[in-house]
Amino acid sequence: MGSSEIPAGAVKCLDKGFIRLVDSMGGDAAIVQAARVSYGKGTTKVSRDRALIRYLMRHHHSTPFEMVELKFHAKMPIFVARQWVRHRTANINEYSLRYSEAVDDFYIPRPEDVHFQSTVNKQGREVIEVPTELREKTVAYFEEMSQRSFAMYNELNEAGIARELARAVLPVNIYTQWYWKNDLHNTFHFLRLRMDQHAQYEIRVYAEAMASMVKEVAPIAFEAFEDYILNGMYFSRLDQEIFSQNLPERVIDDLHEDAIYRIVAGLNANKPREENELYDLYKKEGGQDSEADFSIKRIAAPESAGNIFEMRELKEKLKMI
Ligand SMILES: Cc1cc2nc3c(=O)[nH]c(=O)nc-3n(C[C@H](O)[C@H](O)[C@H](O)COP(=O)(O)OP(=O)(O)OC[C@H]3O[C@@H](n4cnc5c(N)ncnc54)[C@H](O)[C@@H]3O)c2cc1C
Repeated sequence: MGSSEIPAGAVKCLDKGFIRLVDSMGGDAAIVQAARVSYGKGTTKVSRDRALIRYLMRHHHSTPFEMVELKFHAKMPIFVARQWVRHRTANINEYSLRYSEAVDDFYIPRPEDVHFQSTVNKQGREVIEVPTELREKTVAYFEEMSQRSFAMYNELNEAGIARELARAVLPVNIYTQWYWKNDLHNTFHFLRLRMDQHAQYEIRVYAEAMASMVKEVAPIAFEAFEDYILNGMYFSRLDQEIFSQNLPERVIDDLHEDAIYRIVAGLNANKPREENELYDLYKKEGGQDSEADFSIKRIAAPESAGNIFEMRELKEKLKMI
């Protein structure tokens, strides 16, 4: 049933959908340029640009990321579009069923994507296996309902009923298409929410495909997004109280030492120093280990350099626990 043609450059999503990047403006350089409010090309030193972008992401300085624009063409079931459209900062232009006739493209889930309702998450699916017979029945219902509703739609259309009304007999698994344009900051916000394991599988597929395209446009910003937002973790005041009540002090001390050790290794990677100078540097950063222990750690993991700014921030955070 229906057409499943995928335009050139698009990533196939679900059974008949796709997403493709139509156009983009700017990239990592545009973020750096805006952050420095410069009119030139920005700095040529990639390592400095990378550090700046990562700093901006870490500290939620979001407006430079708004300088990058992305325009996508996507085809998705209407129930996916309903979730997608909640992201209000985008500019959208959608295929209209008032003007054009519907195409018989319906989303039919694969049997392996049929799951039980989760008992712990009202919005989720259970991992327990659904018996084959029930999976097949579910898929068959999707097919039957899609075919029947499309036949009714055609009948009403042929009888001259207005398309804007006739379309209302079509179910939400019918595919629609749109152009969706957004800036990078709000696209990251979309990706954070829709790549999350709590997001519905069917929209996650699109978010993951979109992410691969965003990564091409702004690789450094995307890496920072992955490190600090997508795979970052937020601790509430209550979480922190639990940490401070239950984490033995030695664990905090070890983390503190590790952060300092990584700062020293980072400084050394930027500008190599003599071995005795390194221990002085370590003490200056607040390190408590003896010189012998410090040497053992250096021999064990000489290359474990951290981002110096990030590790200094971690040091400050650890003090608060
Ligand atoms: C797992 C999951 C479950 C969900 N469940 C439900 C549900 O059960 N019911 C439901 O209705 N929705 C649900 N949603 C949708 C959700 O509530 C948001 O509408 C959607 O994720 C868009 O988020 P947003 O408003 O932050 O994004 P956007 O609309 O893209 O906005 C981005 C940011 O801009 C700002 N902003 C944009 N517009 C305004 C405005 N008018 N006023 C003030 N600030 C604005 C806000 O800071 C916002 O965070 C769910 C979303 C997810 C990811």
